[in-house]
Amino acid sequence: MILQIEAGLLKQMADAAEAAFPAEACGLIVGRGRGQLVRVTRVVAAPNLLAADTDRFEVDPAVRLRLERDLREAGGKDRLIGHYHSHTDGTADPSGTDRALAFEPDLAWVIIGVLDGQTVQTLAHRLDEKRGSFRPVPIRTPKKNACKPPPHSA
Ligand SMILES: [Zn+2]
Repeated sequence: MILQIEAGLLKQMADAAEAAFPAEACGLIVGRGRGQLVRVTRVVAAPNLLAADTDRFEVDPAVRLRLERDLREAGGKDRLIGHYHSHTDGTADPSGTDRALAFEPDLAWVIIGVLDGQTVQTLAHRLDEKRGSFRPVPIRTPKKNACKPPPHSA
């Protein structure tokens, strides 16, 4: 999986992470595309049910249910492709808690490392169920007004 995330959507997650500091922010990520490249189309902030804990997060399941129902009813190509949360020690790799709680290999995990209230890095990961560990997922940020590559001439 490669995640394509526009700068504006990355900023939306970083802003949410900084606003929640010193608690962890969390939310859901909507995207489209099959195969390797998944394009993020929307991020949806969700209350962190464990915000009082400072190093844990739990997306409000009601928010997820509502979002998945809305996406189904819309009947489009958008689907839930992952979720994001922040770490308040600046790291963007899955924590031991993340590893213990991960169970949905189809979902991308975007982690925003915040230190002293400032975003320092954003990384994406995905659970490798066979190995029981996370693998990195590359994040690609399209340049604004980038030229399209010429079509292949066979
Ligand atoms: Zn975490």
